[in-house]
Amino acid sequence: MTDIQPRKSVSPAPTSWEYAPALESRDVVTLRERYGHFVGGEWLEPRETYATISPSSEERLAEVGQATAEEVDLAVVAARDAFSNGWSNLPGSERAKYLFRIARILQERSREFAVLESLNGGKPIKESRDVDLPLAAAHFFYYAGWADKLEYAFANRRPKPVGVAGQIIPWNFPLLMLAWKIAPALACGNTVVLKPAETTPLTALLFCDVLRQAELPPGVVNIVTGDGRTGAALVTHEDVDKIAFTGSTEVGKAIQRELAGTGKRLTLELGGKAANVIFDDAALDQAVEGIVNGIYFNQGHVCCAGSRLLVQESIYEQLIGKLKRRLSTLRVGDPLDKNTDVGAINSKMQLERIEELVAAGKEEGAEIYQPPCKLPEKGYWFVPTVFTNVAQSYRIAQEEIFGPVLSVLTFRTPDEAVEKANNTMYGLSAGVWTEKGSRILSMAQRLRAGVVWANTYNRFDPASPFGGYRESGFGREGGRHGLEPYLSFDE
Ligand code: NDP
Repeated sequence: MTDIQPRKSVSPAPTSWEYAPALESRDVVTLRERYGHFVGGEWLEPRETYATISPSSEERLAEVGQATAEEVDLAVVAARDAFSNGWSNLPGSERAKYLFRIARILQERSREFAVLESLNGGKPIKESRDVDLPLAAAHFFYYAGWADKLEYAFANRRPKPVGVAGQIIPWNFPLLMLAWKIAPALACGNTVVLKPAETTPLTALLFCDVLRQAELPPGVVNIVTGDGRTGAALVTHEDVDKIAFTGSTEVGKAIQRELAGTGKRLTLELGGKAANVIFDDAALDQAVEGIVNGIYFNQGHVCCAGSRLLVQESIYEQLIGKLKRRLSTLRVGDPLDKNTDVGAINSKMQLERIEELVAAGKEEGAEIYQPPCKLPEKGYWFVPTVFTNVAQSYRIAQEEIFGPVLSVLTFRTPDEAVEKANNTMYGLSAGVWTEKGSRILSMAQRLRAGVVWANTYNRFDPASPFGGYRESGFGREGGRHGLEPYLSFDE
């Protein structure tokens, strides 16, 4: 008889995996050397220009216009003409056809847009491909559906378009914010002058191509690029009826001061410092995924990011252990690599702001954790970071960092969680993780935030209204609520 030995496993379990690069091709995008402003359906040669770059490589991508007040004026005149000469009187069912067309073209060209978004903004391709583009198209589909139903949405109120809308958007979701702004405005019969952020103009400029392909009448959508001066010229233009702004609380307040008493309508979607609250009965592994998605999605450049983690004391050690382990698996690097989880910081200025706040956190006494991580040599990068031992008064617990930096606090009772979560000047969003439905409902009622996610985070749907309280702004985008700022009523 042979001596049969039990089989031994000789190969140790793999502890880490190397990922081969999986680069999305850039060939799908054709960049022009220089872009003008899109006014009245034509390209207007800009008087002044600046270079827009890729934040992951600092490569110069194109020259774009820095619109002056006169150029903004030409755009507003084109929008007014289009409003008065047809668009506002078009039956809703006809306006809807254009919006449906735009949505379908965005879907058809989604790869091109996703690559350009990652190139110009630094976000991972898997996010621009799977989140930004599908949601942008979904917004146009959704509001196309409302265009011929406004009379039903607002029964007996005789809804009418407001006129020319001036729209100013930030750099964190360039195309998606454009869709959030343009789709409801057009569905309601308004015309638009939109200014993208200085650092991320390229997908808005490519969108002009979509407008032409959809044969949208000239002047219905006009796009002017430039920095804050261009935005300010749009805000103060006398023939703009409504301003829709998404960006920092500071600029939002300045715009509100500027418009006070003018009768111009205004909606503001500003910053946030959301609490993501984890109770001890939550499914912890799921919660860890939600925490990671809450703060490291889009490098934390998200106004509703779950940037303050509130953990029930009894599970603190266990949860933080799991979170740190998960952090060490995040891949930071080339936004065009399909394996990348965390891409480049959007600009040098934003990187400096993150660095300043992180230095303040260390100085104030918080404990920092950053997983070992090799960052590319060129471009703007920040390692995913967790701060523990954070007091509520620290700047990292109060100020919007707008980067991949999480501040962890603890609580013992639901009352304490509510008190700490609401201890902020903002009120945009919050998350609750628990297996008890009743606790979800009671927390959602007590948290002063425009959006409360339960056992999930950062989920968006065009049918769901989004917006804040207090210094997070006012007005809602999305859903039926998102139509109202673009309508006036005979009542
Ligand atoms: P801003 O508020 O400056 O930018 C938002 C938009 O407003 C951009 O298009 C900007 O142009 C424009 N703008 C700037 N100044 C004026 C003005 N006086 N009048 C009209 N429009 C103006 O945000 P930043 O890019 O400076 O970011 C700073 C901080 O703001 C971030 O660190 C983050 O905390 C927060 N933020 C919040 C966002 C949110 O979604 N809630 C989005 C972006 C930033 P330009 O691009 O040229 O500056």
